[in-house]
Order: sequence, then structure tokens, then C-alpha cells
Amino acid sequence: MNTRLWHPFSDMAAVDGNEFVVDRAEGVWVYDEEGRRYLDGCASLWYANAGHGRQEIVQAAMTQMSKLEAYSCFADIANRPALELADRLAALAPVDDARIFFGSGGADAIDTAVKMARGYWQARGEHQRVHVVSRETGYHGTHGYGTSITGIPPNREGWGVLAGENTVAPLHDLDGVEKVFAEVGPERIAAFVVEPVTGAGGVHLPTEGYIEGIAELCRRHGVLLIIDAVIAGFGRLGRWFGIERFGVRPDMITFAKGVTSGYLPLGGVVVSGEVAAPWWTTPGERTLRHGPTYSGHPTCCAAGLATLDVYERENLIPRGEELETPLFEALAPLLQHPYVHEVRAGFGLLAAVELEQDVLDGVPDAPNALLRGARKAGVLVRGLGKGVAVSPPLTVTTDELGLLAEAIRAGLDSLPVDAPV
Ligand code: PLP
Repeated sequence: MNTRLWHPFSDMAAVDGNEFVVDRAEGVWVYDEEGRRYLDGCASLWYANAGHGRQEIVQAAMTQMSKLEAYSCFADIANRPALELADRLAALAPVDDARIFFGSGGADAIDTAVKMARGYWQARGEHQRVHVVSRETGYHGTHGYGTSITGIPPNREGWGVLAGENTVAPLHDLDGVEKVFAEVGPERIAAFVVEPVTGAGGVHLPTEGYIEGIAELCRRHGVLLIIDAVIAGFGRLGRWFGIERFGVRPDMITFAKGVTSGYLPLGGVVVSGEVAAPWWTTPGERTLRHGPTYSGHPTCCAAGLATLDVYERENLIPRGEELETPLFEALAPLLQHPYVHEVRAGFGLLAAVELEQDVLDGVPDAPNALLRGARKAGVLVRGLGKGVAVSPPLTVTTDELGLLAEAIRAGLDSLPVDAPV
């Protein structure tokens, strides 16, 4: 053993002693300890939407930290950054009469949202409404509920018994979703949890009418719609929460990542006034017995406020849509490469390059081999089950998108594929 640091989702037996150590970052560029620079083609882990090294975010966090670094928002205690960030997010979110519940990231936001959905129905006396529907390829973090409802089978396996009462619906098949509703019994379903575009599950872009169809189905059966905008939010799809592109107003939205552009850990749930009502109407009636220590952390919220300022001042949010066609045009030629099975791009500033099955079968850990090949060519991308994902900061230029595609091509060429595929 050479190192004590256990990396998430990583083959530590292979990583141990072979770490790629990043040292500093500026804009869309990341530098290693030898001073080599790399284009950040994945915004770290889909979060550095405003780009790296923003001194105004750093300063806002430092100023808050030296004034009041942390104080928990229990009972009636609040702090100004948490109050202000809640107001700003509530005003931006496409949710009726919104309230904001803060945590530290996406996984705890999902656990919060699912518990709120189930608690809402319990409070209303519909005790049978506990079932949660999600969809194939959905990723919702690695906490309890997120693990139980993910549509990525390997992430659910190996833990023994998970949280019960959930079903994974087919990816883009509305009839299949209706069938799940009918089989479970819609009166038993508390909520449907869905990413507008699946991220970690492979960047599957929505088919025409699918998200709208789910929303309509939920409305028809009184099922709460939880949109997981942890990746889709803060400009990735060209809107504040992504779901605006479908004209859908959900009951809850989970967010994290881009809310601070990753400068500090922060996440949360936008909750409609209707869902909040059981806990927010009559004093003394009901308390939500749920909440992490760092809910409303003032330093994290100050970083969030400064990040929203950057997005607004530089008009960065629309770039997720403005750059979707340039990203598609940069990556589409890779489809001619013999190792490439599919390029998924064209909706938002995110994409996947999926490898041919022969390559996946023939090259050990092919997605990570491709990732390392692209890195050698100067670009950082993220490995997926069957390829790599791309999701650069919103500040990326079209020329840099070209560099990104070239490096992926170099990575493809470097794959040790023996026989022609
Ligand atoms: N939901 C989605 C859609 C995500 O992509 C992620 C993380 O990538 C999460 C939830 C979990 O967020 P976190 O890793 O901050 O817990």
C-alpha cells in the first residue's frame, strides 16, 4: 500500500500509488504538480460551471468565514447568507410558492426530498403512498435512498437489503412508465424522481415529450414529481434549474454542484408551498424530524450567493444552451472512429462518447483507459460505464471544444485494441 486516500468509485488496487495529483486551476484549465495544464472537459465532476479560480467567490467565502464561519440553523436560528440564498433560489426556481431546505450535496438532497414526499403523504393520512418510482440509468447519489432508487444496477448491488418500496421505470418509454404505475397502483406511489438528462448513468438526452409526459402522468395520478437537477441545474442545460426547458413545474427540485460551482459543498431541495404545508401552517402541529448539521452553513451559502452573482453578471446561464450545438458539432465526427458506438450530444453543455461493445469487451477498463489517453493529450474527461462524459465549465470557448474533441480522438487512438473491430 502506498497511499491512505480512498477515492470514490475507484479501483483502489490499481490507483494505489498511481494517483494523478492536481495542484491548481484557473478558468477552464487545471494544472498538475509538474505544471502541465489540462482542459477541464468535465468541470471536475459536473460542477465547476463558473470555472476555476474565481477570486470573488473565494473572497466572499473568506469574508463570511472570518465573520461567522458556521452556526447551525436549528430551532429559530438563521444567518443572513442562508436567508438571502434561500430567497434568491426560491425566486429563480420553477416551483410554486417555493421553500428551500439546505444540505451539503446532492445525495442528502435526494434523501431529504424522498423523505419529504413520503412524510407529506403520511401527514395527509394517505399512509399507503410510500412507493418511489425512478428510471433506468438514473443516478441520485450514494446515500440510502439514492442507492435504493438508482437505475444503474451495479450501484445497487453488493449491499444486501436496500430501502424498499421502489421501482425503476424504463428510460424513454412512457407506456412502460404507465405500466409501472398500473402495476404498483398509482395510489401507492409517493413520488417520481427523475433527472431531466441522466448524467452519471450515461448522458441520455430526453426524447421528445418524455419529461412532459412523466409530468402529466404524475399530475393525473397525484404523484409528486421530484426533479433531480444536481447536474442539470445552474446553466448545464441553459437554465437555472434545467427543467424550465420542458415547461414543467415540479413539486420539488434537488440541487447541488453548480450552486457554488463546487467552491464549497452545498446542496438542497426546492419544495413547493403545497408539499411544505404540513410542516409550515399551524405552530405546534408538526416538526420535520430531519436535517443535517450543516443545513444553511453560512460560509457555503456566502459562496453560493457569490456564485449566483458571477452567473448573473457574466450572463453564463444561457451558455449551456448556446454551446449545445457547437459541442455536438465538435464531437459528432468522432462517430466515424471505429471504436465509437454512439455520441450523445446536442441538448445542454454535456455529452457522452460511448465505445463499441467489442472495445469494451477487449480492453480492460476501457472507459478509464480512454480517460487516461485523453488526459495524455491534455484534456480531462469523466469515465462512464461504457465511455466518457464531457461537461466543461460554461466559460469554455468553441475553440476549446475543438481541443476537447481532438484529445478524445487521441485517447481513442491510444486504446490497446488488438483485432480490428
Ligand atoms: N443526483 C445527481 C443527478 C447527481 O449527478 C449526483 C452526483 O453526481 C447526485 C445526485 C449526488 O450528489 P453528491 O455527489 O453531491 O452527493
